[in-house]
Amino acid sequence: MATDSYGRRIDYLRISLTDRCNLRCVYCMPKEGVPWRDHAEILSFEEIERFAAIAVEEGISKIRLTGGEPLVRRGVVDHIRRLKAMTGLEEIALTTNGILLGKYAEQLARAGLTRVNISLDSLDPKVFSRITRGGRLSEVLVGIEAALAAGMGPVKLNTVVIRALNQDLLAFARLTLNRPLHVRFIEYMPVGRTHGVGCGVSQTDWSKANFVSAEEILERLSKEGTAAGLGEPRPLESEQAPGGWGPARYYKFPQAEGTVCVISPLSHHFCGQCNRLRLTADGRLRPCLFADEEIDVKSVLRSGNDEELRRLIGIALQSKPENHGMRLGTGRGMSQIGG
Ligand code: SAM
Ligand code: SF4
Repeated sequence: MATDSYGRRIDYLRISLTDRCNLRCVYCMPKEGVPWRDHAEILSFEEIERFAAIAVEEGISKIRLTGGEPLVRRGVVDHIRRLKAMTGLEEIALTTNGILLGKYAEQLARAGLTRVNISLDSLDPKVFSRITRGGRLSEVLVGIEAALAAGMGPVKLNTVVIRALNQDLLAFARLTLNRPLHVRFIEYMPVGRTHGVGCGVSQTDWSKANFVSAEEILERLSKEGTAAGLGEPRPLESEQAPGGWGPARYYKFPQAEGTVCVISPLSHHFCGQCNRLRLTADGRLRPCLFADEEIDVKSVLRSGNDEELRRLIGIALQSKPENHGMRLGTGRGMSQIGG
């Protein structure tokens, strides 16, 4: 079992497979994208698997693949199949924007993937296209259906709530009525080159004005749900909630098949329960999303031995800060860190 210097059990590793993406969400990436790393700078699947095997020996039991967009990386299905076969790894999950899920869901399910989180911030095609700078909502909806049809579960939708985007939260709640879908409303986080000012939405202007707290999200769901005849969302006991690997509060509308959930990294920061490390696509181990300290594991993967890798994991565990201290902005954006 791995613990950090504050006694937290660390058993969850998020791995970014690529910093590339087929969308350009306004709050995540600048219009022109971020400078992509050369292929040689990105860890190979072999290197990731070697690192993952050692991390599992050191106490990691759950891995989530993310990015950038993990499904744009060629060979991802076979990579998942190999990770799935790794002794000691209990669970593997994927976070995707869903654009390529229609194409890959069946193959991913056959490779052994069941848990998938699909990011989706609007159910209005025009708003979706504006948020993602040109993405097609219909492709994500096909992806969601494909994941359900392939027997994946839990299938969760990640919705970042940002005031200027004026999102229709109830439209998401309605999705949970007749389908085993779990919508997770997530507070907007100041990650990337943010200045804490600004009135529009771009990767560089997280602002308090655009922040919507989990409490406000719940209030809106309750008020709008009641007015629309859906009733009020009721809190679920943890054993009724679809299992997650991080703190989340789950609710259900009366008669709904799925659930809604709020994740409040800022308003109720849950650093005390933090259980994760991150591995960036270019081979840096990151102890905390909000702190820029990164440990270079790529050089050791390319020239060192397993003992040195174990030592670096130990350093990462010991360097995890007690909490994120409400830092505004990080040197690298979410697509580069692996959100
Ligand atoms: N491309 C994939 C996707 O969109 O699911 C995986 C990577 S993306 C960086 C992972 C998640 O981070 C997405 O759900 C996205 O909405 C979220 N995200 C990005 N920037 C964020 C921010 N500033 N605050 C909260 N969530 C953010
Ligand atoms: Fe790409 Fe995901 Fe960032 Fe959107 S949130 S730009 S899909 S990495």
